[in-house]
Amino acid sequence: MFLEGKKIVIMGVANNKSIAWGCAKAMKDQGATLIFTYQNERMEKQLARLAQEDDLLVECDVASDESIRRAFSTIETRVGKIDGLLHAIAYSKKEELGGNISDVSRDGYALAQDVSAFSLLAVSKAAKPLFNKGAGIVTLTYMGSERAIPNYNVMGIAKAALEASVRYMAVEFGQVGVHVNAISAGAIKTLAVSGVSGYKDLIKESDSRTIDGQGVTIEEVGNMAAFLISPLASGVVGDVIYVDKGVHLT
Ligand code: NAD
Repeated sequence: MFLEGKKIVIMGVANNKSIAWGCAKAMKDQGATLIFTYQNERMEKQLARLAQEDDLLVECDVASDESIRRAFSTIETRVGKIDGLLHAIAYSKKEELGGNISDVSRDGYALAQDVSAFSLLAVSKAAKPLFNKGAGIVTLTYMGSERAIPNYNVMGIAKAALEASVRYMAVEFGQVGVHVNAISAGAIKTLAVSGVSGYKDLIKESDSRTIDGQGVTIEEVGNMAAFLISPLASGVVGDVIYVDKGVHLT
């Protein structure tokens, strides 16, 4: 169990379909102690049904600096040092995830960037004093950062910013022994993806392009996240690793 004795913060479980939940399960299987953050009371209720008694649940709305500060201060008080941070958070107004990209509103653009890209920098900064040497940060991205995926629009631009943030952060955090990477997951039916217009077609098309015609699972993404967040991946730095069963190849 390569995460035995490691304490890992999991951000982004909305329900049992969430990619963060697949990651949490894989990390738990490898012996990790988990600290979950949730966005609001509604998410807390969902999470409380999934989490085990010894898991710590902490509120953290990444759109608020004060909420981030409070969350990491609570984590420091309750668990002390940590060994990993999983960031699986994204948000855009539904109306921005369809139509012409040039119709994106100033507000909608800023909101998607704030919650989906800037938040990685903000939470990593808050967590920085807590990291043990050998810790890992992992975030979740999508191929829409590199290719024009129908309707993904403003989120594709946010993911491009997120991936660039990973590279800059990898240099800074590498100096304190923390490796930073992203996983580019294939399309999976989750709450977040259902905000994209025509998401059913997106998933169908994506599944049809995998090596075996079956979509990638949150468990498969979770296994990569468990490895990537662990000290075993200390040599993988600032990278975007695809876990999409080959969709990006074709
Ligand atoms: P999800 O809806 O299960 O998770 C999204 C999470 O973001 C939720 O837990 C939500 O509470 C959280 N969130 C949104 N705004 C927040 C805020 N202000 N503060 C705190 N948390 C907030 O969906 P998911 O698909 O599991 O998404 C997780 C990550 O994976 C996202 O970054 C998403 O872009 C990425 N991703 C998803 C897919 C896919 O096809 N589902 C593919 C590649 C990457």
